[in-house]
Amino acid sequence: MTEDLVAANRILVNEGVLDAYGHVSLRHPANPDRYLMGRNLAPALVTAADIVEYDLDSEPVGAPAGFGHFFERFIHGEIYRARLDVNAVVHSHSPAVIPFSVTERPMRPLYHMSSFLYPGVPVFEIRDTGGMTDMLIGSRELGRALANTLGDNNVALMRGHGNVVVASTLPMAVFRAVYTEVNARLQAQALALGGPVNFLAPEESEKAMRVLENIHLRAWEIWKRTALKDAAR
Ligand code: MN
Repeated sequence: MTEDLVAANRILVNEGVLDAYGHVSLRHPANPDRYLMGRNLAPALVTAADIVEYDLDSEPVGAPAGFGHFFERFIHGEIYRARLDVNAVVHSHSPAVIPFSVTERPMRPLYHMSSFLYPGVPVFEIRDTGGMTDMLIGSRELGRALANTLGDNNVALMRGHGNVVVASTLPMAVFRAVYTEVNARLQAQALALGGPVNFLAPEESEKAMRVLENIHLRAWEIWKRTALKDAAR
């Protein structure tokens, strides 16, 4: 479980979703009112010893003195509070999604691998709740507003900042975070070619999503093996 969370951090770095910033968390398998996440550290450096338990107010529980904690951890606590079906959350500055957070172009599923973008990818406008902020989700109030914008969707963009991706399992959250970034890149390319873009129909998205349930662990296996091999070096 801890090994999977360490692997998730490294996979998301390897796949270009996380850089020195961003975080991935897992709801505590034994206590739904807690979640697990690395301490304030670049994701590529996270080891099992850096995993901290948080309550849903995003207060650390039993963390060693001297551990720093992510300023934006409220994203995770408030999504777990609002979404009982969610057991893993990724927050990143996934670069290709940023243009879709600052323009009128909604992100939509361009191909089967990103069918989970159906039914929609809402954009969180921090000004609506926080006015002129430093753009960071640094309070429970802002975390709650973001969770509210996410609603029942799998992905929400954060205007001028990044995104949040959720799933019922850690491997699926990682899969979705990776293919959200890929879809954004491909959608920008399709739009640049010009003319109307033929997106997946809602019915196609629903059917393709059921396939992803069956095939996403193939990606997890190879990503995890590569990530932990890199870590051992
Ligand atoms: Mn951030």
